[in-house]
Amino acid sequence: MSQPERTLVLVKPDGVERGLTGEILSRIERKGYQITELLMLNATPQLLAEHYEEHQGKEFFEPLVNFMASGPIVAAIFEGDRVIEGIRQLAGISDPTLADAGTIRGDLGRDWGEGVQKNLIHASDSTLSAEREIDLWFG
Ligand code: ADP
Ligand code: MG
Repeated sequence: MSQPERTLVLVKPDGVERGLTGEILSRIERKGYQITELLMLNATPQLLAEHYEEHQGKEFFEPLVNFMASGPIVAAIFEGDRVIEGIRQLAGISDPTLADAGTIRGDLGRDWGEGVQKNLIHASDSTLSAEREIDLWFG
């Protein structure tokens, strides 16, 4: 039997600050995925720079790391068949102004004057990044 697929979810500082942690995790649980690890932490800029290494050099990189370090984050591992694409679908596209209604970003997010930075949730986008990110946050 193969291992169930796993992915990393972060409730970003805007989601925690707005009291949406339960709502966000609950939407994912109600879809049928299971939390197997859960923690709240203040992430260091070093951890965040590694987490977002694919975006190093982009103009939004430094503001993004600063935002992600600005308050507590809730990190979770979810598991289930096709959980990676399933949670990406639940999250919606990066820009919360344009994300479809029915998605976490579309229903709960908007532009707060900083473009697409505050969009409530991170979810791994591939099996490779899920493995890398789970190791980074929970290894
Ligand atoms: P996603 O989180 O949907 O996978 P990306 O990997 O493209 O999106 O970007 C990582 C995060 O960086 C986004 O979730 C968002 O918080 C931020 N971000 C992306 N693009 C921009 C941008 N153009 N301006 C400001 N922040 C951005
Ligand atoms: Mg991404």
